[in-house]
Amino acid sequence: MSLAERARRERAIEGARAIVEGCRTCAIGESRRNSVYGEGDPCAALMVVGEGPGETEDKLGRPFVGRAGELLERMLLAIDLARDDVFICNTVKCRPTYDTGTRLANRPPTPDEMRNCRPYLDEQIEIIRPRVILALGAPAAKSFMGEKFSITKQRGQWFEGPLGIPIIASFHPAYILRQTGGAMTEVKRLVWADLKEVRDRLRAAAEPRPAEPEQHSLFE
Ligand code: URA
Repeated sequence: MSLAERARRERAIEGARAIVEGCRTCAIGESRRNSVYGEGDPCAALMVVGEGPGETEDKLGRPFVGRAGELLERMLLAIDLARDDVFICNTVKCRPTYDTGTRLANRPPTPDEMRNCRPYLDEQIEIIRPRVILALGAPAAKSFMGEKFSITKQRGQWFEGPLGIPIIASFHPAYILRQTGGAMTEVKRLVWADLKEVRDRLRAAAEPRPAEPEQHSLFE
């Protein structure tokens, strides 16, 4: 990718990030500390889409920086990708919360919040044009594949995502962290299978196309 194209994408992302920072379409736009636009390589072959920012992400304005983020980084490293090689974002850019009476707790985003935020996600996909999208967890997967999508039955399968980009879903790292003992081993085994799918698809996309048959020169 040319330096000019990389610079164009960086400018587009910064412009979009500023618009998200000013967005107050949903009530969570008022309760958040920071918007969490997303970060990573603007020319990334892989885009990772999670559910929504949690407390740490809200505090720092960055995606996947809590415990789930640490696990995500280890998952990426298992397929030879550093965090900086990919683009990481969420279905919603503000932390969805509810008031327990003593503190604000995380909750999944509502369909309305995901709908309101969708143009920002679509714009990210349009700017970055990744080769593969990895949706983490049921809310992110459903936002692409529809409400009927079953994370337990359909994770690890390829679908056609926005702009025809291949998309696959896997379990969310926060879900993996909630498992114990044999259940955790089993979930990790399934996630590893999904990650290998991603790795193989990225490798296939990176392979040079078979060479064109050689043209006979006019100057033999
Ligand atoms: N969980 C998510 O889905 N996204 C984050 O950014 C952090 C945790």
